[in-house]
Amino acid sequence: MRTRLTGWGRTAGSLAELTTPTSEDEVANALGAPAVIARGLGRSYGDAAQVSGGLVLDNRGLDAIAPIGPDGLVTLGAGVSIDDLLAVAIPQGWFVPVTPGTRRVSIGGAVAADVHGKNHHVDGSFAHHVRAMRLVTPSGVHELSPEREPALFWATFGAMGLTGVVSEVTLQLLAIESDQVLVDTDRYDDLDAVMAAMVEGDARYRYSVAWVDCMARGRRMGRSILTRGDHAGSSDLTEATRVAPRGARLAVPFSAPPGLLNPVTITAFNELWFRAAPRHRVGEAHSISSFFHPLDGLRDWNRLYGPRGFVQYQFAVPDDGAEAVVTAISRLSASRVPSFLAVLKRFGDADPAPLSFPQPGWTLALDLPVGPAALAPLLDELDELVVAARGRVYLAKDARLAPSTVRAMYPRLAEFAALADTIDPEHHLTSDLARRLRLREG
Ligand SMILES: Cc1cc2nc3c(=O)[nH]c(=O)nc-3n(C[C@H](O)[C@H](O)[C@H](O)COP(=O)(O)OP(=O)(O)OC[C@H]3O[C@@H](n4cnc5c(N)ncnc54)[C@H](O)[C@@H]3O)c2cc1C
Repeated sequence: MRTRLTGWGRTAGSLAELTTPTSEDEVANALGAPAVIARGLGRSYGDAAQVSGGLVLDNRGLDAIAPIGPDGLVTLGAGVSIDDLLAVAIPQGWFVPVTPGTRRVSIGGAVAADVHGKNHHVDGSFAHHVRAMRLVTPSGVHELSPEREPALFWATFGAMGLTGVVSEVTLQLLAIESDQVLVDTDRYDDLDAVMAAMVEGDARYRYSVAWVDCMARGRRMGRSILTRGDHAGSSDLTEATRVAPRGARLAVPFSAPPGLLNPVTITAFNELWFRAAPRHRVGEAHSISSFFHPLDGLRDWNRLYGPRGFVQYQFAVPDDGAEAVVTAISRLSASRVPSFLAVLKRFGDADPAPLSFPQPGWTLALDLPVGPAALAPLLDELDELVVAARGRVYLAKDARLAPSTVRAMYPRLAEFAALADTIDPEHHLTSDLARRLRLREG
């Protein structure tokens, strides 16, 4: 079916044939098309899961989940969502070892972006927990693991679908005793204070994230709320339940009018949110939904940004580039480009994947509505800042980088492209993202 597709940011849509294969054979046949890419639940923000004029393979037909083993190993189809997996896993005492800020992502999408959670400083990214997977490529099906075809195994994490279609993944789950997380919350009046607290204390927590108010200026610039915690044990609670999160109760029915989210409304929201958080609270029980996936309670919340959509700008810089985080927030705050609370996290060790985004140090994610004239020059300036700090922008969030910038940010791109050529010499695998950034050219 010919369909217009966009990413979660609802920018840069394009038309493609959309089909839903239900077996590896159907995927293999589809890979004969001249331009083809897999798509999960469309939660990447930009143009990674679409290919103009080509064929898009909706991975939701690959939806089998095998029983979870006593050791927490589970084999599942790439179209299963983290939401579906949690519905089965939590009642049995298991959790996904890495979850992004929404559970509405597919396992294939989690592999392709090598997603990270609030625990990267402790547990690494998604790749670290995958024991094996099956990858359908134009040159056949590959059974991959860290021991079997390791180069192709690692290259697939962060490859944004450009090594083939992941059909099945074997994942190591994390044992949990309850569906609650014990959370410590602290409010900080400026950015230096929260960054110092994270450097000093994050190692004591499995999960950590700071929400930064980028609209605050002057002495309050970068004021933040830091939440850190770990899964509650059964002895921590009077009654330890293991209930999976429920679906969204509310939905945004249609696109908001342009300009609804502007400096005035967003400053007011950030102010309310900041004041509602406790200055210091220890050991508060939070549900899995409210701690990990607060936005999932409101379906289609991306429509709030109106018909022009929004971009998410997420970058990572090493510890010695921490100043880039401070400079980025001060430039954003000075520009008056409106931004909801930004998300600041620490990253631990990188994995061996050539295009994986996380690198040790800091990561900052900014949600920015499309519209203000100052936005494009601001983001170009931030690109320069990130490159100078030897950092990178996350491809799963990108809708606007230039080919030369991506080469400076991902120095192993040529190595990746050469490997992709060995399994797809005729370049069937491509996407709007790959074309825009010339990712297959190295
Ligand atoms: C609210 C929100 C919060 C988020 N928080 C985080 C976060 O904390 N950390 C983080 O890392 N990311 C985060 N993300 C981004 C998201 O996790 C990634 O973009 C993820 O890839 C989306 O998965 P998806 O199933 O929607 O894939 P899509 O967006 O549909 O596709 C993403 C990429 O995966 C490829 N792909 C999909 N299926 C397959 C397959 N079977 N085989 C090979 N390639 C495939 C596509 O070709 C595409 O390149 C967030 C996104 C949203 C909307």
